[in-house]
Amino acid sequence: MEEVKAKMNSKYYLAWAKDEGIRKKGANGGFVTATLVSALENDFIDVALVVEKKSVYEGIPVLTSDPEVVKECAGSLHGAPVNLTKYVVEHAAKKRIGLPVKPCDARGIIEQAKRRQVNLDNIFMIGLNCGGTLHPLRMREMAADFYGLDPDSVVREEIKEGKIFLVSEEEGGEEKEKWIKIDELEAKGYGRRDACKSCITKIPT
Ligand code: SF4
Repeated sequence: MEEVKAKMNSKYYLAWAKDEGIRKKGANGGFVTATLVSALENDFIDVALVVEKKSVYEGIPVLTSDPEVVKECAGSLHGAPVNLTKYVVEHAAKKRIGLPVKPCDARGIIEQAKRRQVNLDNIFMIGLNCGGTLHPLRMREMAADFYGLDPDSVVREEIKEGKIFLVSEEEGGEEKEKWIKIDELEAKGYGRRDACKSCITKIPT
């Protein structure tokens, strides 16, 4: 972990996983995964709620007490917009649960706590900043129509610097990366979901 001095006397930290496998698999150095693994191994939480990647278009929420399962679920998944609130409501009542949250997950969980459906003392949220998510079927169309790719060949995606990157696996295992500006995609009705275009809370607060 590295301390970085910022303006106005505030400071923030750059952090990443010490485990090389987690660091490589994570979207940004694996800090979230390493934190959940450590929380399980040190009995800080009973279970972790993570999303298992089936493809870039599909993810399944998994509740697990196995750190190895948490490691397998490292990485971000913008094409599987799952809101985790209902899983927390169903499973947090009796267990200490840890999970990464997008701002909309965090807001949903806090609203349920106000209604006394969950106890925030049992819930350990790791907040993620969020640039938006995509509808999986629209993302498949986008891959074919705008990136010229077979949607099933897309193995990774990323949103950064105002662009959506798709990485496809070609015959022979070679990977190719293509990107298009989000503004261009959204002008044609693709890109992020409508809810994400109008979302003004990109960082959990
Ligand atoms: S942009 Fe907002 S609504 Fe969309 S997934 Fe992120 S936090 Fe949720």
